[in-house]
Amino acid sequence: MVKMQFDMLVNVFRSATGIQPTPPPMPDEGASAPVKPKVVVALYNYKAIETGDLSLEKNQEYEVLSDSQEHWWKVKDARGNVGFIPSNYVKEKESLGLQQYDWYVYDMSRQRSESLLKHEDKEGCFVVRNSSTRGLYTLSLYTKIPHPHVKHYHIKQNARGEFYLSEKHCCNSIPDLINYHKHNSGGLASRLKTSPHDRPTPATAGLSHDKWEIDPSALVLLEELGSGQFGVVRKGKWRGSIDVAVKMMKEGSMSEEDFIDEAKVMTKLQHTNLVQLYGICSMKNRPIYIVTEYMRHGSLLNYLRRHEQSLSINQGLLLDMCIQVCKGMAYLERHNYIHRDLAARNCLVGSENLVKVADFGLARYVLDDQYTSSGGTKFPIKWAPPEVLNYIRFSSKSDVWAYGVLMWEVFTCGKMPYGRLTNTEVAERVQRGMILERPQSCYKEVYDVMRKCWSHLPENRPSFKILKETLIGVSQGILVD
Ligand code: ADP
Repeated sequence: MVKMQFDMLVNVFRSATGIQPTPPPMPDEGASAPVKPKVVVALYNYKAIETGDLSLEKNQEYEVLSDSQEHWWKVKDARGNVGFIPSNYVKEKESLGLQQYDWYVYDMSRQRSESLLKHEDKEGCFVVRNSSTRGLYTLSLYTKIPHPHVKHYHIKQNARGEFYLSEKHCCNSIPDLINYHKHNSGGLASRLKTSPHDRPTPATAGLSHDKWEIDPSALVLLEELGSGQFGVVRKGKWRGSIDVAVKMMKEGSMSEEDFIDEAKVMTKLQHTNLVQLYGICSMKNRPIYIVTEYMRHGSLLNYLRRHEQSLSINQGLLLDMCIQVCKGMAYLERHNYIHRDLAARNCLVGSENLVKVADFGLARYVLDDQYTSSGGTKFPIKWAPPEVLNYIRFSSKSDVWAYGVLMWEVFTCGKMPYGRLTNTEVAERVQRGMILERPQSCYKEVYDVMRKCWSHLPENRPSFKILKETLIGVSQGILVD
């Protein structure tokens, strides 16, 4: 029975990728056979800096010696060198599939793939991504003829299991199909020429294995990026090679000792749509620095306001930004982690319209009464549901309310919720059931989702998991993938 299911899976995998996976041992075969070492392949280059870490070379194989820590694995390279590597930089050889190809961008959305290809601006530049329809793949291709634009083609499969873009040219696997169209346009807007180069590598969970304390002498501070609630934020370089953002906390602004304990947990939270906490830097008699991943376009709120003209006519992109935030929040929800201050000002934007949630959980360590008590001038009243206004009762469902307000901020390109109403006026009206109006030109389906987030009782609000599925469904309904 198990063998039959495995065979079926193998057929699907083999036909898409052209790779033959090795079957796992059957229960009765495995007993005496030696355990097969786990072999991984590097998806990115990684430069080891701290002692005990090991460099990775893209496409090279490594044997895993220990994967007992989630984010840093001990591996051995072909020359016998042993050390720790970030586990999100490698993929098991047997399940590598399309990920070995530079043109495969996994679950990048239609909108982000368009941003990426337009940014490259090269005729015939292409990527293959997972379609929003489960199990299918889409080819996104950039052409300048007759004007610069991106075309999207579903990769289809015929009854024989062959893949094709145009029925006349069928191939046994997707790599074969890509190869064919590299030499023949075969009905496409252009021959496939290059895939985007220079794609940013993901952040690692901490800057080295088992490390969340950062040596101040390893940090070079550069220009100021902005300033906020806690102090000034500056760009920085760690050990001359990794870009970071450094939040220099104001004296007395947070309960540092408690936060330091929490930081150990927070460095382990890792998701594409969360700003990675690298660690903290503490110096004698000075407030701490919080060191995070650097995001080149700064806060989502300012980004929306700066690009209102181009963004307001691209509802698909706005919805994609909301879906990205929702994915990050669904991860926090899964880990029982409450944000407490979700808003567009606390999300950041990277290249290719990548959006990440920042500052999660930080609110608990703020010492300022004006921020922590619901009557305070800095308390985010306009993002707070009735149970927070009344009893300061935070939960993932209070984050969901705030998420609805964030969606509203995105679809108004950064307007202030409830306009000029004061905090007291808003608190009073929200408790009476008032909600924000539908932003101009926002799809009804999208506004319906916001309204669900603003259900008076927390238990009537959807979870982030459900919200994510709903929003992906809405995007399929109003956009063509
Ligand atoms: P605070 O939490 O003290 O209120 P913020 O996190 O709002 O400070 O940061 C203030 C500003 O600094 C942001 O609006 C943004 O422009 C910039 N900034 C903060 N973190 C980063 C980062 N990781 N990458 C790039 N810019 C950042």
